[in-house]
Amino acid sequence: NRSIRLARRPHGAPVPEDFELAESAIPTPGEGQALVRTRYLSLDPYMRGRMSDAKSYAAPLEIGDVIIGGTVGEVVASNDPKLAVGDVVQNYGGWQDYSLTTSKEAYPVDESVAPASASLGILGMTGFTAYSGLLAIGKPQAGETVAVAAASGPVGSAVGQIAKIKGCRTVGIAGGPEKVAYLKEIGFDVALDHKEPDLRGRLKEACPEGIDVYFENVGGQVWDAVLPRLNTYARVPVCGLIANYNRTEAPSGPDRSAALMASVLTKSLTLRGFIQLEFVREMYRDFLRDTGQWVAEGKISYREDITEGLENAPETFIGMLEGRNFGKTIIKVAD
Ligand code: NDP
Repeated sequence: NRSIRLARRPHGAPVPEDFELAESAIPTPGEGQALVRTRYLSLDPYMRGRMSDAKSYAAPLEIGDVIIGGTVGEVVASNDPKLAVGDVVQNYGGWQDYSLTTSKEAYPVDESVAPASASLGILGMTGFTAYSGLLAIGKPQAGETVAVAAASGPVGSAVGQIAKIKGCRTVGIAGGPEKVAYLKEIGFDVALDHKEPDLRGRLKEACPEGIDVYFENVGGQVWDAVLPRLNTYARVPVCGLIANYNRTEAPSGPDRSAALMASVLTKSLTLRGFIQLEFVREMYRDFLRDTGQWVAEGKISYREDITEGLENAPETFIGMLEGRNFGKTIIKVAD
């Protein structure tokens, strides 16, 4: 059983030496457990947070731990009456070939709706993040303007397409001309490249009526450009701040928190952070029904960026944090 473990805590951007490939015996399922052979491993920005020991919403990984991660795999041995050999399930198997699970932690994957890998993206955690954050916090109304960055990624692309279904005008921000072209292809009304100069000016021009919902995935300079465009009563679901994840010190320049709070006050803004788990009980069923239907009807399309080989997970993860991925980042571990 090959696994990728945390060799040391990254300082700033992770480097290959922060990871190590280990070999161990394939585990034997105990009473009530099943053994799953991983087919696909999901790589997600939240994993960077777990590699640090800073206090957060979940416990950090310890040095030597297998890196956590959502997986899709096939049950190859089972002592759990609810999991049969041959079942395809989604579980949190981590960065390894085989994992142990139970029917309480593993969800059946319906391959008739979409290929199994989709349950790591549009029909899984990232799709649900977009759906729950946008609808429960963003509360988009028809005719409003919804903006999102990291817009070609699994969360952002779903946010834009769901907002469009809800009758909104959508503004997507992404890095580079290819990603911007893709945003237009999947129906964003406006697509802007944050790597080109003067995002603030271009955003002003593209949003003459301001922004009512800004789904925050990024922080940093994109947030600086968006803040002045927010309308009175704008809602900001704060989902992620990827521009900061590899930061080792506070940004330079004056402290702008007073100006931010003044905007929050005078424009009656709602900034509300969330971790998608908060909404699972309340919204997951509706999410699977709605999103499954939208995908089946072709109202939502999704893009995957699949790399072959577990051994390539560290390099692929490092690239994702730099924006080298184009679509949901997935490692194909086995057929
Ligand atoms: P993506 O696949 O979109 O990958 C991250 C993207 O972020 C990169 O491709 C890059 O896109 C963009 N990016 C990276 N650095 C910067 C930067 N400095 N400025 C602007 N853009 C940058 O990721 P996901 O869709 O999986 O996740 C999106 C966000 O949602 C992340 O912040 C993640 O942490 C968060 N998240 C939060 C959850 C929650 O429960 N709160 C759950 C899941 C995800 P580009 O090339 O376009 O710049």
